[in-house]
Amino acid sequence: PVDAAFLRRWLDTAASVMEREASRLTELDSPIGDADHGTNMRRGFLAARTAVEQEPPQTPGGVLVLVGRTLISTVGGASGPLYGTLLRRAGKDLGEEQAVPAARLRDGLRAGVDGVAALGGAVPGDKTMLDALLPALDALTGALDAGGGAADALAAAAAAADEGAKATIPLRARKGRASYLGERSIGHQDPGATSSALLIAALADTAR
Ligand code: ADP
Ligand code: MG
Ligand code: MG
Repeated sequence: PVDAAFLRRWLDTAASVMEREASRLTELDSPIGDADHGTNMRRGFLAARTAVEQEPPQTPGGVLVLVGRTLISTVGGASGPLYGTLLRRAGKDLGEEQAVPAARLRDGLRAGVDGVAALGGAVPGDKTMLDALLPALDALTGALDAGGGAADALAAAAAAADEGAKATIPLRARKGRASYLGERSIGHQDPGATSSALLIAALADTAR
C-alpha cells in the first residue's frame, strides 16, 4: 500500500534524480525554452525534501500537498504552478487516508493531471508534460485493471511516460515558451515531459 513513508521515499529518490538530471533537463530547455528547467526542478524538489523532513506529514495526501505547495512557492515559471497543482490536487484527492492501494493513488494522480490540464489548457500532442503524464495514467490503469500488482503497474506507467516523452520530439509545441518557436520547436524533446517521466520512474523505483 501507498502510505506517507512510501511517498517520502519517492520524494528522496525524486530529489536525487532531479539533482543528477538537472543539467540534462536544462539542456533540453535551451533550444526550445530559456534553459532553466533543470535548475527549477532541482531547486523545487530539494526544497520539498527539506520541508517534508522538517515536518513530516503523516498521510500520503499530506506529503503530496506539502510537496506541491513547496513547488509553487519555490519554482517560478510554468512548471512550478503546474507541478504544484499536479501534486497538491493529487494530495487533496487522497484526503486523510492513511494507506491506500495503487488504484487509489492512480485516482489521485488523475485528479492532479486534470488540474494541470485545466490550469495550462494543454491537450495531448501539444508537446508538454501531459504527453508523458497521460500515457502513464493510461498504462497504470490498464495494468491495474488487468490484475497486475502495484510494482508492475508502476513500472508499466514509467515505461509509458518515457515513451511519451520521447514521442514529443517530432511534435510542434502549442503551449508554453516552446510554442513561441512554432515549427522550430519540432525535433526537440520537451523538458517537462522528460521531468514527468523521471518522476514516474522514481515512483516505480520506490515500489520495486
Ligand atoms: P518556463 O517555461 O516558465 O521556463 P520550465 O522551463 O520550468 O518553465 O518548464 C517548461 C515545461 O513546462 C515545458 O517543457 C512543458 O512541459 C511545461 N509546460 C509549459 N506550459 C505548459 C502548459 N500550458 N501545460 C502543460 N505543461 C506546460
Ligand atoms: Mg524554462
Ligand atoms: Mg523560465
